[in-house]
Amino acid sequence: MIEIMTKHKRLWETFHALTAIDSPSFGERKFCDELKKRLIALGVEVYEDNAGDKIGGDSGNLYGYLPGDTALPPVLLSAHMDTVEPGKGKRAIVDSSGLITSAGDTVLGADDVAGITIILEAITRLRENGRPHRPVELLFPAAEEKYGVGSAVADYSRVASKEAYTLDLCGSIGEAANAAPTIIAFEVSVKGKAAHAGFVAKEGIHAINAVAGAIAALPEPLEGTICNIGQISGGIANNIVPDLCRVSGEIRSLFHDKALAQWEAVKNTFEREAARVGAIAAANMRVETTAYTTPLEARVVQRFKAACAKVGVTDYIHATMGGSDNNNFALRGIEGIVIACSMHDVHSTREYSRLGELQQCVELVLELVKG
Ligand SMILES: [Zn+2]
Repeated sequence: MIEIMTKHKRLWETFHALTAIDSPSFGERKFCDELKKRLIALGVEVYEDNAGDKIGGDSGNLYGYLPGDTALPPVLLSAHMDTVEPGKGKRAIVDSSGLITSAGDTVLGADDVAGITIILEAITRLRENGRPHRPVELLFPAAEEKYGVGSAVADYSRVASKEAYTLDLCGSIGEAANAAPTIIAFEVSVKGKAAHAGFVAKEGIHAINAVAGAIAALPEPLEGTICNIGQISGGIANNIVPDLCRVSGEIRSLFHDKALAQWEAVKNTFEREAARVGAIAAANMRVETTAYTTPLEARVVQRFKAACAKVGVTDYIHATMGGSDNNNFALRGIEGIVIACSMHDVHSTREYSRLGELQQCVELVLELVKG
């Protein structure tokens, strides 16, 4: 215990202190204030945008700038401020091997405090060692866990970087995602006609049956595409032919046009199958994130691979089916990847992190920003 804690004392203190602050999506105020304070103490210029007003949260996205060698291209490091539920009263505990878990009844919050802790430690180290480095831009978005709505409306006018590393991925240090999906959320309402189920059932139009028929008739998703019916509700009593049934779900694809094509197929199937029994389907969708693929030849990827080699970890670059703030960076022409930062079993109370991995990722980040 003593040994590992002495070695990683500062990392642990930062991680512990930051996870102790409640920071639900749209309620990141206290967390943002603490982060601001810490960044200013490290000589980082900070600026908070007004995204909070736009998304109905109490905090904007926090931008930071650490001046560096202006002859070198700036680099953007990012990690989101919000954590998922259950996340109130989080308490991180560490054991003698450096394994960090939550006290049990909440998530740990490593997603994404691990990323923030690593960035803060890397900046602290840069200040201490005085070595030349690239100008470093930081972006700590609010409400990433809500399909990245914070970074979607961030003020990008200050962001000069064309390369980004988003610290927000599960897996071993060295793992990174260079592609992420378009995510479409959809909802279909099928309207039939109510009737007494005991006396005149044939006069009704069974909305639940219509939906069941549509779901059974849904085409196989296109290759590399996922379609999930996540929620269904309908009917009000056992003796009434239900006149309304609502369905909602999600489509994900690494190719934006395939996601749209899948949506068209879903919509058409519901409309066709509802019409077949005399019901009417009203279908709506929203594009939550837009797919990107950062080529493996891109400098941002090559630099990451070189940094992994330098630090002695194996690089493993692959696509992910999860969205992140990097989807929004890609929309703004910033080429980026999402890198693993010691968060495991996220979005559950089993979530954990490791001090040794956090330290490894700090070394990796120091390589990424090196002059
Ligand atoms: Zn995350």
